[in-house]
Amino acid sequence: MKRTAIYLRVSTDKQAQEGDSIPAQRDALRKYVKEHNYILVGEYLDDGISGTKEDRAEFQRMMEDVKRGLIELILVTKLDRIHRSLRNFLNMQDTLDKYNCDWLAIWEPMYDSSTPQGRMIINTMMNLAQFEAEQTGQRIRQVFQYKREKGEVLSGKVPCGLKIENKHLVADENFENAKKIFEHYREHGNLRKTVDYAISIGVMLGSSGIKKMLKNERYRPFVGADLFDDVQMLFSKNIKYNTYRTYIFTGLVVCAECGGKLGGHTRSHELQYYRCLRHFNKGNAISPCGNSGTIGERVIERYLLEHVKEMLTEYLFQKQQDKPKDNSKRIATLQKKMGKLKDLYLNDLINLEEYKKDKQNYEKEIASLQTPVQRDFSAHEAVLQMNLEEFYPALTQEQKRAFWRSIISKITFSKDRKIEVFFL
Ligand SMILES: [Zn+2]
Repeated sequence: MKRTAIYLRVSTDKQAQEGDSIPAQRDALRKYVKEHNYILVGEYLDDGISGTKEDRAEFQRMMEDVKRGLIELILVTKLDRIHRSLRNFLNMQDTLDKYNCDWLAIWEPMYDSSTPQGRMIINTMMNLAQFEAEQTGQRIRQVFQYKREKGEVLSGKVPCGLKIENKHLVADENFENAKKIFEHYREHGNLRKTVDYAISIGVMLGSSGIKKMLKNERYRPFVGADLFDDVQMLFSKNIKYNTYRTYIFTGLVVCAECGGKLGGHTRSHELQYYRCLRHFNKGNAISPCGNSGTIGERVIERYLLEHVKEMLTEYLFQKQQDKPKDNSKRIATLQKKMGKLKDLYLNDLINLEEYKKDKQNYEKEIASLQTPVQRDFSAHEAVLQMNLEEFYPALTQEQKRAFWRSIISKITFSKDRKIEVFFL
């Protein structure tokens, strides 16, 4: 008979249209309270303010009631109803802990603050959300700052990487970057990530700029028809499904033959698979790869779900057997070097500034050797505790991606279709 509060919030019209309106949330939450024989002690409703703002009146009122000991459990439909900002969330969590109040997102049952697995997942996801919010903000700032400085040079009529010479369009010195942007989009199929990538190589365009670029027919003869058409196909699919496809395993899956990354690809609408880019982009590769195999995303997922616990157990056991590295020799060498350094200074062979700087470097290294880093395997252990069959299917593509990334460093795929998994 838990004393339960329900918290309701809608932040955009889109959410309201998608069956996520206040009445829909209220019905679902009340039903949940009833089904579990909880006591409903309060309903709190905030309307339409950004999730990062902390001054939400009803939310504050609810937290006051928590502090008065009136509430043991807060129910929301989804996590983003509570907080988008990690810092604010952690502030709230401290208060909730202090007053023994749990919370649960009923449409996302893996977010359950009363279990250790739930806690681990919540922390992972909140970290991810915060990271994304920061990235987006930073990306927008970078683009604006650049445009201010350069006076909008990039939105001219001639596309980036091409120039007009004798009335003909030809590649210029930036063309390699333009091509890399096409390749990146083909590999990841994700516009947002491609914008990040473009900025990282100095092409300061926002998402509409990159989209225009990728759809601009004038690039076709320059980047090659294959690449151009692949990109168009990916585009039309993404638009059709109104989602920028997330590949769960890009960056993690690696070709066992050539060591290159496998690229994500989509076949017949939904089927996502991976293949060695150095094989399939033979024309561009310096040394083409012989791995012509493709592996489906579902296949990798199934393999991991079936084997991950067994593999993790083995991995953690191995890690336990590993002896801590003996650093004493290296430390002795460094101490000797410091002695010599002092001699150099005393004999006027180096000046005080040089002496101080080098001494500091040696001291830093010695300190780091004396306190070896403790590896944190809590994510691995949490996975061992989880009911994966229940937990995993409820995740979004992004969350699945984050989930595997929290424990796996690399998955290799060989010519004879062998998968090998390496953990962090
Ligand atoms: Zn390969």
